[in-house]
Amino acid sequence: MEYFSTNHMAPHASLAEAVKKGLAPDKGLYMPERIDRLPDDFFRNIDSLDFHGIATRVACAFFDEDIPAGDIEKIVCDTLTFDTPVINVHDNIYSLELFHGPTLAFKDVGGRFMARMLSYFYGKEENGGKVTVIVATSGDTGSAVANGFLGVGGIDVIVLYPEGKVSMIQEKQFTTLGKNITALEVDGTFDDCQRLVKSAFMDKELNRKMTLTSANSINVARFLPQAFYYFNAYAQLKRAGKEKNLVFSVPSGNFGNITAGLIAWRMGLPVRRFIAANNRNDVFLDYLRTGIYTPRASVQTIANAMDVGDPSNFARVMDLYGNSAEAVRKDITGCSYTDDEIRKTIATVHDKYGYMLDPHGACGYQGLADSLSADETGVFLETAHPAKFKETVESAAGQEVKIPQRLMDFMKNEKKTIRISSSYDNFREYLESRI
Ligand SMILES: *Cc1c(COP(=O)(O)O)cnc(C)c1O
Repeated sequence: MEYFSTNHMAPHASLAEAVKKGLAPDKGLYMPERIDRLPDDFFRNIDSLDFHGIATRVACAFFDEDIPAGDIEKIVCDTLTFDTPVINVHDNIYSLELFHGPTLAFKDVGGRFMARMLSYFYGKEENGGKVTVIVATSGDTGSAVANGFLGVGGIDVIVLYPEGKVSMIQEKQFTTLGKNITALEVDGTFDDCQRLVKSAFMDKELNRKMTLTSANSINVARFLPQAFYYFNAYAQLKRAGKEKNLVFSVPSGNFGNITAGLIAWRMGLPVRRFIAANNRNDVFLDYLRTGIYTPRASVQTIANAMDVGDPSNFARVMDLYGNSAEAVRKDITGCSYTDDEIRKTIATVHDKYGYMLDPHGACGYQGLADSLSADETGVFLETAHPAKFKETVESAAGQEVKIPQRLMDFMKNEKKTIRISSSYDNFREYLESRI
C-alpha cells in the first residue's frame, strides 16, 4: 500500500519510506491510500478473538502487502505484551485503560510497534544494520520511545533532554535503561534539544555516514496501531452485551489517538459518535463552533500532555472529512474543561464510584457524563495511570495514589547519562564518535 501526504505536494511513499521519514517532504502527514472495511464476519466473531488476534487482523488490513502476515503477527505480539481492559466505572460509563504498558501511558502501544517496524525494515541492512533514532524530550516522549525501542535489534536510541528540567520519575524512565538506549543530558532548554536534533537531520555529511531517523508521534507506524485497542474495547463490550450505540470519548492533544479511532470506524467498527475531550487548549472546539481553524499558543494545564495549541493530526482529520466542518460535526462533538473542573471530576468520581482518574482521563470521563444518553454506552480512554500525576491527583482526590511496581522499578536503578553542551559541534562530535 502507498501513503500520500495530506499536503498533496509530495510523491507517494512506500510503507518503509513513510516509516523512516515520519513527516512527508512537503511537511504533510502520511495517510494510507485506502482504508479497507473489514468483513462483517470479523465483527460478528470478534468476541471470540483475543487482543493479539484482533490486532493482527487490523494490522494486516494496512500492512499485509508490504510485510508477510507471519511477521506482522510477530510485531503485533511483541508490541502488545499487556492488555487494554475495559472497566465499568458506573452505569453505562466505561474506562478503556491504556496504562498497563511499561511507561504507564497509551503511547507505549505506538512506540513499541514503531520500534519493531523500523527494525523490520532497516535493522538488518544499511550501515551495518544500524539505525540511530534521535529524539528530544521534555519528559514523556523520551520514556515511551526509549522503552519502546529497548532491546530492539539494529536500532540505537539517543534521547536528548534538558538537564534539571524533567521530573525525577520521568528522568529515571529513560536514563536507567542501558542496552541500546543512551541519554544525553543537555546544558540548556528543551528548545535547545530540539534544535540539536533538527541540526543533525539537516547535516548532509553526517547523514551520509549514519542512518538517522526520528520517532515523532506523527509517524504512521506510531499512529495506526492505536486503532487496535478500539477494536479490543468493542470485543470486550460485545462479550458483556453492552456494545450498542457506542460512544468513544478521547482526551486529545495532538489528536493522533482520536484519529486512529476514526480510522477504526471507517474500517467498520460499529460506533455511534466520538467526543474530542480537551482541557483549556480547545482550538478544536472552536473549530466545531465556527468552522474556522485558528491555532494558538498553548496554555499550561494539569492535563499537560494535552497542552497543544496547534494539533498536528488536525490535517488527518481534515483529510478524512474532506475539509468539511459540517461533516466533522456529524461524527465528533467537543468539550473543554478548566483545571478546577478537572480536579472536581477526579474528586467526584473517586468519592462516588471509587475509581481514580488521571487528569487526562478525567476530561474524557466528563465529556461522557455531560452528554451521554440513556441508550448509549460510553467509553473514555484512560490514557495514563493516575500515579504519573501523583501530586495533582492526590490533592484533588484527598487520597494517596499507590505507585505501581513497574514504575517503582525504574526508581531503583541508577541514572546513567552523558552530559553535553547546547552547541551543535559538541553533539555532532558525540554522534561521530559512535560511528
Ligand atoms: C499524548 C497524551 C494525550 C494526547 O494524545 P494525542 O494523541 O496527542 O491526542 C492524552 N493523554 C496522555 C496521558 C498523553 O500522554
